[in-house]
Amino acid sequence: MSINISKYDPQNIFAKILRKEIPCKAIYENDFVLAFHDIAPQAPVHALVIPKNPYTCYSDFAQRAAPEELVAFTKAIAHVAKELGLEDNGYRLVSNTGRDSGQEVPHFHFHIMGGRQMGFMG
Ligand code: IMP
Repeated sequence: MSINISKYDPQNIFAKILRKEIPCKAIYENDFVLAFHDIAPQAPVHALVIPKNPYTCYSDFAQRAAPEELVAFTKAIAHVAKELGLEDNGYRLVSNTGRDSGQEVPHFHFHIMGGRQMGFMG
């Protein structure tokens, strides 16, 4: 599937989750961030952390987000990993950015995956 990350699409599925037009299994929320369980988990624990503001991908977020947003997002990932019990055995962070990465949802997000031993690619 080809996605467009040059312009934010307000109809993407995470935008709908943020507007509460479709449900999610929420884990954590603050002024800047929402975290919820992935609908198709690739590991025993698989969460997504998304900013509330509209960024298409990592590059967009890194370039345009305010410093307090960058800090809140970074800290939220560690907070969610701890809440999910992943701190002791560790976890994987992934952020697909753009077509070649396989990014499917054009709203910036980090995957947090854990609960099993992982190899380099999966
Ligand atoms: P990407 O390929 O990095 O863009 O990852 C998108 C992720 O969003 C995939 O892991 C999907 O399973 C997940 N996803 C898609 N729709 C939903 C939903 O409605 N709720 C939760 N996760 C979703």
